[in-house]
Amino acid sequence: MAKETQKFQAEVKELLGLMIHSLYSHRDVFLRELISNSSDALDKLRFEEASNANWDLSKEERHVRLEADPENKTLTIKDNGIGMTKDEIVNNIGTIARSGTKEFLKKALEGNTQPDLIGQFGVGFYSSFMVADKVTVHTQKAGTTDGVVWESAGDGEFSLEDKVRSESHGTTITLHLKEFPEDTEQQDFTAEWTLRSIVKKYSDFIEYPIKMLVSREEPELDKDDKPIEGQTKKVEEDAVLNSMKALWLKKSADIKEEEYQEFYKHLTSDWSNPLETIHYKAEGTQEFSSLMYIPSQAPFDYNYRDSKVGLSLYVKRVFIAADCDDLIPVYMRFMKGIVDSNDLPLNVSREILQKDRQIVSIRKAIVSKILKTLSNMLNKDREKYESFWKVFGATFKEGIPSDISNKDKVTDLCLFSTSASDKLTTLKEYVARMKPEQKAIYYITGETITQLADSPYLEKLRKKGYEVIYLTDHVDEWVMQSLPKYDEKEVVSITAENLELDTEEEKEKAKEELKSKEEKYKSLTDVILKSLEENIKEVKVSDRLVDSPVCLVSGSGDQSAHMERMMEAMGQAIPKSKRILEINPDHKVFEIMAGKSDDQQKVWAEILYNQALLNEGSQIENPTKFGQQIAQLMVDANL
Ligand code: ADP
Repeated sequence: MAKETQKFQAEVKELLGLMIHSLYSHRDVFLRELISNSSDALDKLRFEEASNANWDLSKEERHVRLEADPENKTLTIKDNGIGMTKDEIVNNIGTIARSGTKEFLKKALEGNTQPDLIGQFGVGFYSSFMVADKVTVHTQKAGTTDGVVWESAGDGEFSLEDKVRSESHGTTITLHLKEFPEDTEQQDFTAEWTLRSIVKKYSDFIEYPIKMLVSREEPELDKDDKPIEGQTKKVEEDAVLNSMKALWLKKSADIKEEEYQEFYKHLTSDWSNPLETIHYKAEGTQEFSSLMYIPSQAPFDYNYRDSKVGLSLYVKRVFIAADCDDLIPVYMRFMKGIVDSNDLPLNVSREILQKDRQIVSIRKAIVSKILKTLSNMLNKDREKYESFWKVFGATFKEGIPSDISNKDKVTDLCLFSTSASDKLTTLKEYVARMKPEQKAIYYITGETITQLADSPYLEKLRKKGYEVIYLTDHVDEWVMQSLPKYDEKEVVSITAENLELDTEEEKEKAKEELKSKEEKYKSLTDVILKSLEENIKEVKVSDRLVDSPVCLVSGSGDQSAHMERMMEAMGQAIPKSKRILEINPDHKVFEIMAGKSDDQQKVWAEILYNQALLNEGSQIENPTKFGQQIAQLMVDANL
């Protein structure tokens, strides 16, 4: 086949543009990314060979090789891994498939946060364009006899040409290195010493040898093998640049912080350091090692369905599968890392994993280790814990409803915003601050903290000095439904009907007063109910409010307004439950209203109802009409 040219998908073209003009200062990470890809390709080959053994492949040792050519300014990274077919290389390198990537890229391009973007973004192969102005990939898939040469200068297109690879399966990537005249500190990526130190820094733990031909001077020998003085010769020999030790099997005392960090970066696409490292060896009934990380930021595609979750599974150092979500519960899906089991059979398949008893017990041990680590962090380094919480708290709290056996531990690890201060608090701390006569733990759900802090529902609690928890995450309604009690105290929504804040004594007194107020406004509340009966099931005189005239509450057993709004936003039509309108009989508006005509009372009722909707964060049906009614009130006030 003659050479053919194809265009990159628009997103890839933009991504390459970012790479080429990147201001990222650590350009040397391109080598880490390419070596990582080679290591993955070698893993895949080993796995395929184990499960699919009818390939007749050379028994040559699996390795990665670097070849530097200072004269032609090229650097070559070669592996004898699984390789790619023509279709695979076009799809893997010419297109971006994951749904989150495109949107993230668009945002990044608009926001112009280039150096940062590169750090967060799984760009892998594309990072070669930070150092090369032309990249050639010669690859051949294991088990096939057709190789292909892919080449691009990072402009809008790439070329493809069929060509058998003399070394058969594997991939050779040749970088035609750029010169950076403006950058005096530019490293020479063809120098042996530079390559050695980059490999040491980023890829030391790669379990395949990273080889390079190095040359050294040796004394010339005479016939009797004695050195001839003043005469040397150049000897070329293969050097292995990495120590190839599986990091997780080393003792943690022997591992430097940077080694842990580089392993994290090899595993994830994240270029920033993890927040916390958990290195754990389990002995006894289950023998496994695990090296796990809590990232410091959420991956850009964290909330997308196709984002990768789970830990990588190894059996006796042999890579089995990436992203095993059976190893970690959904509420810990932010965790990254590996598990290496000594007990599982090497030929485990994904289907077996799901049911495997040993996996279940590994998972249990891992969960308890993570909970312990988080608890230590909370108690010893609150600042760090809060930074974890801000990024992953909304995910982690799903453990309250979903992990029954650890529910108490998860609950104790949850942080909340409250009406007491700007600081986040645990429930334990909340309880310690409760007033002696305070009966329950109070919370309110809504969209934003600002909106909740101004909510009329808080008025009476504030007057009594009771702290209220503000909940603004999507999962909160679901989470709170499974937390009816904490430390023997009821956990109560302050927007529910029959919120009892008073002591028995106060209640007795209030009951009498309320009764007389109810009687006083009986005919008025009848009119209000009649004019709002499409939306309201009851109008109740209550002492919940202090400054506001009205609020809406849900009857016990009904969905809260916040929940209804959320379900609606998710496209789930649920029958709306009619609400209860509570009125504050001490508000002057009702005294005035009682003296108005029926027709006027109806208009006022409508205005008050709409106010109550706005207060709880709901939309009103007819804002124009509402505005006109208010304007009319203003006019009337001046007649
Ligand atoms: P990532 O490694 O994060 O998937 P890359 O852009 O680095 O992203 O690579 C895209 C894909 O191209 C890889 O997932 C892999 O399938 C393929 N690939 C890259 N390098 C190699 C290689 N050396 N050998 C075989 N396949 C490779």
